[in-house]
Amino acid sequence: MDYADEKRIQDAVRGLYTLLPDGRTVPRLGQGTWRMGEDASRADGEIESIQMGIRLGMTLIDTAEMYGSGGAEELVGEAIAGIPREELFLVSKVYPHNAGRRNIFKSCEDSIRRMGAGSLDLYLLHWRGSIPLRETVACMEEMKRDGLIGGWGVSNFDAGDMEELFNVPGGENCQTNQVLYHLGSRGIEYELLPWMEAKGMPFMAYSPLAQAGRLKSGILKSGAVREVCRRHGVQGGQVLLAFALRLSNAIVIPKAGTLEHVAENAASALLTLFEDDLRLLEEEHPSPRRKVSLDMS
Ligand code: NAP
Repeated sequence: MDYADEKRIQDAVRGLYTLLPDGRTVPRLGQGTWRMGEDASRADGEIESIQMGIRLGMTLIDTAEMYGSGGAEELVGEAIAGIPREELFLVSKVYPHNAGRRNIFKSCEDSIRRMGAGSLDLYLLHWRGSIPLRETVACMEEMKRDGLIGGWGVSNFDAGDMEELFNVPGGENCQTNQVLYHLGSRGIEYELLPWMEAKGMPFMAYSPLAQAGRLKSGILKSGAVREVCRRHGVQGGQVLLAFALRLSNAIVIPKAGTLEHVAENAASALLTLFEDDLRLLEEEHPSPRRKVSLDMS
C-alpha cells in the first residue's frame, strides 16, 4: 500500500465516528483482540497488525481481562507503546465474577497496568453474572470519579437487561452495550437496537465478520455477498463490515491478525452500500420479524 492509499483509507476511517451519551467522540471502526496474545510465536505478527490498524485510523482497541488471561492486554500494551494516549480509545472488560466491590478495582487496575495505559476510555461488564447490577454500577461510577475509566458500559445485554440496568441508581450512565451482530445474525435489530437508539446510545458490534464464517458457514461467500463484491470490486469481509457500519450508531470491532486482513478491514470504510445492494443482502439474510433470543455465538 503506498502513501496515497494509506492516507485515503485513514481519512475514510477517521470520518467514521459517533457520540457516546456522555458527549465523548468514539471511533466507529476499531479492532478486536480476542484470541490474540495466546501464542508467543504469533505475537510479532499480531503486534504489527494492531499497529498497522492504528496507522490506518482504527484507533479504538477492544480487549478484555479474559482474552489470553491478560495476554491480549499485554500485547495491546506492546503495540501501543509510544503512541500518545489521547490518540487511542481503549476498551476493556471485566469478568462477571470480578464485577463486584471485592475484585473490580483490582481487575481494572490490572488491565490498565498490562496495557501501560494510565486509564481506560470504556470499561464493560463482559456479560451478566450473579453480582447485583446495583453493586457493579456503583463501583463503575467510583472508578469514573477516580479517573481510572472515562466511562462504562455492558456487553451481551438484551433489552430486558438494559431496562433492569436503567432501574438501578446510576444505571442510566451506561455508555454502550457490546453485542454480537453481523449480516447473518440480525436479531438485535428487532427490539434491542431501537431501545438503544431511543436512549442515544451506540452499540458495539462484535464478531462483525461472523468469525470469518465460523459462526455462519459460507456467509463471506454467499450468493448475495458475492454479487455485492462483484459490483464494488471488494472482498466478502468488506461487505460484512460495510453492512454493520451502515448503521450510524454501530461501533464495529473486527479482529485481524494479518496485515492483509487489517488493510482490507480498514478499507471497508471506503465502501458505501447502495439501496440495491442492501435489498439483495436483505433478501438472502432478512432482518427478524419477531423477537429472537440474544445471540452470543
Ligand atoms: P470477527 O472479528 O468477526 O472475526 C475474526 C476472524 O476473521 C479471524 O479469524 C480473522 O482472521 C478473520 N478475518 C479478519 N479480517 C478478515 C477479512 N477481511 N476477511 C476474512 N477474514 C478476516 O470475530 P471476533 O474476534 O469474535 O469478534 C471481534 C472482536 O469482538 C473480538 O476480537 C473481541 O474483541 C470482541 N468480542 C467480544 C465478545 C463479547 O462477548 N463481548 C465476544 C466475541 C468477540 P485473522 O486473525 O487470521 O486475520
